[in-house]
Amino acid sequence: MLLTISTTVRPATDLGFLLHKHPDRVQEFGQSYGVARVLYPEAGEERCTAALMLDVDPIRLVRSRDRATPDYTLGQYVNDRPYAASSLLAVALADVFRTARTGRCASRPELAAGPIPLEITLPVLPCRGGPGLAHRLFEPLGWRVEATALPLDEEFPEWGDSRYVRLVLRGEVRLADALNQLYVLLPVLDDAKHYWVAPDEVDKLIRAGGSWLASHPDRGLITRRYLGRRWALTRTAFARLAEIGDDVEEDLEPPVEEDPAAEVATGDHARKDGEDTAAERAAEEGSVGEDLAEKEYAGRSGPASGASQEGSSPAGAVRRPLNTLRLEAVLATLEGLDASTVIDLGCGSGRLVGALLERPRFTRVTGVDVSSRALAFAARRLKLDRMPERRRERLELFQGALTYTDARFAGYDAAVLMEVVEHVDPPRLDALERVVFGAARPGHVIVTTPNVEHNVRYESLDGMRHPDHRFEWTRAEFRAWAAKVCGEYGYRVEFLPIGDDDPEVGPPTQMALFGLAGASGGSGGTEGSAGTGGVVSAAGHTSVRGPVSVNTDGHAGAGDAGGGDD
Ligand code: SAH
Repeated sequence: MLLTISTTVRPATDLGFLLHKHPDRVQEFGQSYGVARVLYPEAGEERCTAALMLDVDPIRLVRSRDRATPDYTLGQYVNDRPYAASSLLAVALADVFRTARTGRCASRPELAAGPIPLEITLPVLPCRGGPGLAHRLFEPLGWRVEATALPLDEEFPEWGDSRYVRLVLRGEVRLADALNQLYVLLPVLDDAKHYWVAPDEVDKLIRAGGSWLASHPDRGLITRRYLGRRWALTRTAFARLAEIGDDVEEDLEPPVEEDPAAEVATGDHARKDGEDTAAERAAEEGSVGEDLAEKEYAGRSGPASGASQEGSSPAGAVRRPLNTLRLEAVLATLEGLDASTVIDLGCGSGRLVGALLERPRFTRVTGVDVSSRALAFAARRLKLDRMPERRRERLELFQGALTYTDARFAGYDAAVLMEVVEHVDPPRLDALERVVFGAARPGHVIVTTPNVEHNVRYESLDGMRHPDHRFEWTRAEFRAWAAKVCGEYGYRVEFLPIGDDDPEVGPPTQMALFGLAGASGGSGGTEGSAGTGGVVSAAGHTSVRGPVSVNTDGHAGAGDAGGGDD
């Protein structure tokens, strides 16, 4: 099993610093199923290549299996594992280049931090889905991909291709990202049918995929395959990704061929972790024990990322994803407002719209988004084509941009902008303010947005939570913006936390509830009346924070309506 990594950065031998492996030596690393070696077939100023070779001992591989699941077939001794770059190589890579994967390099920090010219070659890679899948998975990450199907037998071309490809990746990529991508994607391409998936695989996936997986167009397929199609774990991973990005929800739709009910547990062996897990996985373990694994995960009180949002059970055992808490907070706030007509501005895949339709008190529910793809998705999620007439009459979905005045936005008790403002370019924000607060002028506006101060609690996050975010605000910045809006358009505002309100850095999501000054009910009433019906906090109990009202002198602002936005 072989993987080579080449660079032409000058001097190319700096690759040794980045990988933390000296180019002059052959180094060995024992694995529970064999030996990994790192050596440099070439190490010059212009070009340097590091090779990771893995010798798998099939006997050790068999011995490291779970003894409780005896397997007397020949297949456990005679298989492709010693030859094909699969999950075993991924695990060896993760182990041998552990420091390089973090992107830390004291002697060459700038080189480790940025993209460098790289060429990665895998001569034999099992690839279920053929060369096309390798293109699909690596190209969105910035690689030029050369994937060649290997024939079953060179002597007999008429037998056709094998499921193996020769893969060459070329591109300007940060070395740590490249290593993490290989770590996740090698087993995904291999997609061995049965392998052990331990509860900590979700952590490993999130850690390695944190910065690129949430926005990968095939994140659904990657996550499902990485987790060996264990549906409950896949859900957990999506929930975690959803905390980092926002609209990952769409991938939660189970693909047709993967029926969660079909996942039958056949054993209950407690498991260690680490390399054994990998060895067993590679040995194409049966599905023993996965049910326990899932329960163990669900029973842990919060992820490694530290962004724990725990539910209300006494042991804090049930952890609910942030996008669920957000939805509940917005629903509770709308219910507390006595609003019956609601427009969801930037409705995405229509989760809030769907929840509002479930509640008959909302007599008119509208979803707007600039993205036709999001709207098509929402229509599918809401089963628009099969929706009963009475419900259908309460619903409207249409395409629109929040930075252009639109008469269709007007006439609602409340408007919601849930995780939307941060997607708007800062110079366009004032247009959005004019359109929503100036022209549409609903009685209430609910705005939620990430609290950037909380990002330090996400272990694997560097940069913003979602690649499409144009900015993320601190609590003070959000308050300053809201106060400005109130001053210009005659609203009052109060602020509520969503998720764990961390004493140091605040909650992961911040929410502002605006009310038209002078109107009655909710935050629009007298100063100090929260009237929001409370907000579901991370601990699962209802709390009303504040209100931190910003009073304005009642400037109506209606005269500005629609003026000047383009
Ligand atoms: N509110 C949803 C979706 C948030 S993602 C949720 O909380 O899950 C942000 C959404 O805002 C995307 O669907 C995006 O298409 C939409 N959006 C971004 N800028 C917009 C604009 N200028 N006008 C309308 N929609 C916009």
